[in-house]
Amino acid sequence: MPTLTDKKSRRSGRPAAELIFGDLWTFDPAPETADPKLKPRYDLFIGGKFVAPSSGKYFDSINPANEAKLASIAHANAADVDAAYAAAAKAFATWGKLPGKERAKYIYRLARLLQDRAREFAVAETMDGGKPIKESRDFDVPMAAAHFFYHAGWADKLDYVAPGRKVAPLGVVGQVIPWNFPLLMMAWKLAPALAMGNCVVIKPAETTSITALKFGEIIADAGLPPGVVNIVSGFGDTGAAVMNHPTAVKVAFTGSTEVGKIIMRSLAGTDKKMTMELGGKAANIVFDDAPLDQAVEGIVNGIFFNQGHVCCAGSRLLVHEPVADAVLAKLKTRIRTLRVGDPLDKNTDIGAINSQEQLSKITELVASGVKEGADLFQPACKLPGKGYYFKPSVFSNVTMSHRIAREEIFGPVLSVLTFRTLDEAVEKANNTAYGLSAGVWTDKGSRILKLSTDLKAGVVWANTYNKFDPTSPFGGYKESGFGREGGRQGLLDYAKLI
Ligand code: NAP
Ligand code: MG
Repeated sequence: MPTLTDKKSRRSGRPAAELIFGDLWTFDPAPETADPKLKPRYDLFIGGKFVAPSSGKYFDSINPANEAKLASIAHANAADVDAAYAAAAKAFATWGKLPGKERAKYIYRLARLLQDRAREFAVAETMDGGKPIKESRDFDVPMAAAHFFYHAGWADKLDYVAPGRKVAPLGVVGQVIPWNFPLLMMAWKLAPALAMGNCVVIKPAETTSITALKFGEIIADAGLPPGVVNIVSGFGDTGAAVMNHPTAVKVAFTGSTEVGKIIMRSLAGTDKKMTMELGGKAANIVFDDAPLDQAVEGIVNGIFFNQGHVCCAGSRLLVHEPVADAVLAKLKTRIRTLRVGDPLDKNTDIGAINSQEQLSKITELVASGVKEGADLFQPACKLPGKGYYFKPSVFSNVTMSHRIAREEIFGPVLSVLTFRTLDEAVEKANNTAYGLSAGVWTDKGSRILKLSTDLKAGVVWANTYNKFDPTSPFGGYKESGFGREGGRQGLLDYAKLI
């Protein structure tokens, strides 16, 4: 507990005491108790029904917070993916011709039914993926519902989405999504596709299939015509079958740049349309005139939200030299107050790392940072004995050539670099293979406007970070991919212009 106020410390010349939460200041546990209504086994959702995989094979989905098995998940093979595409093609014959105002009713129903079961979905999402309950409850689930509401609103106004042109659906689309925002990424993909009149075959990531398959229950309850949405769980082989299927006229992929390149290589020469939402290594840039306390909150949110498993995470902090020491000191003090642990506890700021594989990747990259000479800071917090956890980490004295400054870590690890001039900040921010997002902290509006053009990133946040809205298009430059999700632009990526 602090014993000195800032005022007193200024008078005495001594530094203000730090807030040390850790072992000195404990909160009572506040576990979320809503029932996630998990089934022991999840089958594939094809043609409006849950069906067993033709191979009879299932794999385990575990809770990364304690390594306990949650459910068996069906592994779809090529025959199941064929069946899913056949169901989608059959459904498209009527769904694609339905008036937009009729499709809107179904999409509104999806949004409302998800809201009805919001707490249940939030708990299931947290258990399957490891993210803090306050994030799944206050961000993932409401934002997923918001995407369905927004796109339901478009479905009967498609004559106005491309002024002077008419739009038509493309047909059957194949979609593959990652594990960091499982339900939300599904909503980003399904809502625009359905609003435009397409039918879908979608594959969730292997570690987080539960909320996608639970959403199959909502699709059935909403009375969506059978085959309009088909959900095939599985591994990379299932994903490849979804992307390469001849019935798919368009594929939409969110995941790593590495897998995105594999997909692009295998589809080169076909006339399939593609959207690729890939990795990132965003710069969060703090100038000396920025409100530093707010900037520190933005830096913390930028890198520790969802354990840093965020494609647009502000994983490179670029600080103006005159305030570099002050920002780093404030940042360390703030990080000491973060609570790492049980994702189902409402007090938890940083939950579990999604998988053992991801934990190994983070551990290896952090070791490389130490080996290459950067200074590592981690607060003295206790991690749970079981499950996959990683301490919030900040590297200072980082140079552009360090792996931790170049490679996507996809974990709670921040690399801090400094700059002296605006040009140097732009040069360093853009000196990356990625271009998904960036943050700028400054009091000067003109500087914000200049940087929003100079930074080669799909999204540039000013004096804030990680703000999302269904009306706002999201997507990348360079190796972060192409195509947009959200807004009018995202909708047009699922349309034929006539
Ligand atoms: P990933 O390994 O690329 O996997 C993404 C999805 O692709 C998973 O469903 C995966 O299945 C599947 N897959 C694997 N191999 C495949 C193949 N050969 N063909 C087709 N599909 C295949 O990525 P991740 O580790 O799940 O997600 C993290 C990455 O996603 C990060 O790089 C992050 O930046 C990026 N991301 C980008 C955005 C964006 O909007 N730009 C948003 C979120 C995440 P399995 O799960 O079975 O491996
Ligand atoms: Mg899991």
